[in-house]
Amino acid sequence: MLKLAKLNNRPEIFHSIQGEGKNLGKPSVFIRLSLCNLYCKWCDTDYTWNWEGTSYAHNNDALPGYHKFAKDEMMALLSDDEINAIVTDYNCKNLVITGGEPLVQQKSLISLLQLLRQTNPLYHIEYETNGTFIPLPEVDALSDQYNVSVKLSNSGVEYNERVVPEAISWFATSPKSNFKFVVDTNDDLNEVQQIITDHKISNEAVFLMPQGSSVESLQQKQNWIVELCKQYNYNYSDRLHIHIWGAKRGI
Ligand code: SF4
Repeated sequence: MLKLAKLNNRPEIFHSIQGEGKNLGKPSVFIRLSLCNLYCKWCDTDYTWNWEGTSYAHNNDALPGYHKFAKDEMMALLSDDEINAIVTDYNCKNLVITGGEPLVQQKSLISLLQLLRQTNPLYHIEYETNGTFIPLPEVDALSDQYNVSVKLSNSGVEYNERVVPEAISWFATSPKSNFKFVVDTNDDLNEVQQIITDHKISNEAVFLMPQGSSVESLQQKQNWIVELCKQYNYNYSDRLHIHIWGAKRGI
């Protein structure tokens, strides 16, 4: 059984396009798992971890009506068969396992991955991960791609929690990995370049994206980031879902 995020009282599995990174624009089925081991203060999937009774600060704390989430209301427990049936109905080859942090539940993921592979050996299975867990060998053997987004100090998360050197180095040596960083300031860029240097990450495996949850805020940063990508041979990634839908969930 896996804990999935819940949206409109249904498990959050949806058919859309990949909005970021290496597979930008690719039709994909997203499987959003609940739970995260971090607590980024700007997280837009805080309904996967910012539970009532916890003391984590969030940028939305100041918004009228914002409150922490009741775990029982935001989480759905599904069997592998139930998840497989929903995914199969979409008839889509690219699967994105996201969260929260999907590798929090990686032991429970193994049997789902086996079932998905049996159902359709042509599935391409990718993850959105914060890069703090080394995938288990059984998970890695059944997976195609890791989109690794190591969190920076602007997340408000303690360094030792968001930067796990052995995990980042594992991903840096895996041909399945690419690294996605959202940057807003020169300080962010300096941190990114320190992580790249410390862990010998290939520049060609790096995607830089502008910070922002509106088209205007993305556009303000895009020229600066494009020039950085040209200078360092990084890849530029837009955040396509924001251009199309804004900061909406489940689409
Ligand atoms: S790692 Fe991702 S899901 Fe977890 S708190 Fe940070 S942004 Fe949110």
